[in-house]
Amino acid sequence: MTTIRIDLGNPTEMLLPFGPGLHLPFRGFSPRPYPSNDWWGQLALFRYLDHWKLIRVNDWRPDIQHWSTINTGHLVIEFHGRVPEIITECVGSWQEGADLYREWARKQSWWINSSFNHHFLMTGSTNSPSLFIDQYLDMKENIPDGAVWATNYRNHKFQDMWPDYAVKDDFVPAFEQIENDGRTIFPYMNSMFWDENHPEYDPSEMILKKDGTIAFYAPSPNQKHACLSLESTKQRLVDSRDALGTSGVYLDSVGGIAEICYSSNHDHAPGDPRQYIDNLNDLISRMRGEIIVESITEQTLGLANASLTLERTGIWNRDTLPLFQRIYGDIAPKLGCKFIGDEPIETVREVFAKSLPYGRAYPTGTGRGPEALMYTDPSIREILLQ
Ligand SMILES: [Zn+2]
Repeated sequence: MTTIRIDLGNPTEMLLPFGPGLHLPFRGFSPRPYPSNDWWGQLALFRYLDHWKLIRVNDWRPDIQHWSTINTGHLVIEFHGRVPEIITECVGSWQEGADLYREWARKQSWWINSSFNHHFLMTGSTNSPSLFIDQYLDMKENIPDGAVWATNYRNHKFQDMWPDYAVKDDFVPAFEQIENDGRTIFPYMNSMFWDENHPEYDPSEMILKKDGTIAFYAPSPNQKHACLSLESTKQRLVDSRDALGTSGVYLDSVGGIAEICYSSNHDHAPGDPRQYIDNLNDLISRMRGEIIVESITEQTLGLANASLTLERTGIWNRDTLPLFQRIYGDIAPKLGCKFIGDEPIETVREVFAKSLPYGRAYPTGTGRGPEALMYTDPSIREILLQ
């Protein structure tokens, strides 16, 4: 690993490629992994009294990097592979800096290969097949071109027993009915986590961190992070996807954790800075049909048909600027937007109107409450279908 420190002088603010674009007063922050939803591009912008500074990395095939600032006024980039060219440019506004990065991004493989579709996604998160089909029929009336997201179609609770993605028997007719209507279903799959309670779980096939422990998903520690360098792991996921028999699939956690594997028993060298990216991209390429990935990580934009990330900072939040939309809006115009409670329709309308500069948003969430309103309210549909 090579650490590069860049003296920033005295910036007052920063704009970071985190979610739609995190805009904050300048301060120190701990390392963010690239590629991930927490650092989706190889750039950062800093504001000074009369100008902005764009710092970007010129790498057409980037390895894992970690970006941070320290309180002494330095930007720190840790390169886990080779060290590419780093470019600093002074610009008049953050938009001007974003446009310079976009000009570079337009020449990269993930932009050139992009082929995004524009589904209007209807959520189906209930575990009741009859309710699932009732919700579908209700939404179908209002949304002639909608696709369906299915998250609780399995024999297990949502986060249990991955990678068992078999469709529960009584969900099969519902899936068939929707497919026969010519609609795309996107059943949920996770791209990397295995439940340690699954009968095929083998700890030797998981990502080994530098300290010798197995990588896992902190909010749900039974979910261990599988190493995708193993052909058997990738094939297991590809076979599971094929067994779904649907025209689409939703791949979760793609932009989650850029993890380096230090195992000496896998199909990569210990600490290989490319294995995570190359194998994740290989997995996505081998999935047939339409693919939505949970990621706005730039390197996966050329592999999926749509991109979803749940907005964590709040797209209507004043600390957010539409950096992702400015750079990648032409090829990946959608960000997710989650409503958890039962907000009144006035609130939902207001949120969607404010979200317009960030691109169109998928309404996602609990499958009840405000979603039904979103789909049927003419003013919201107008925003979403623009
Ligand atoms: Zn490994």
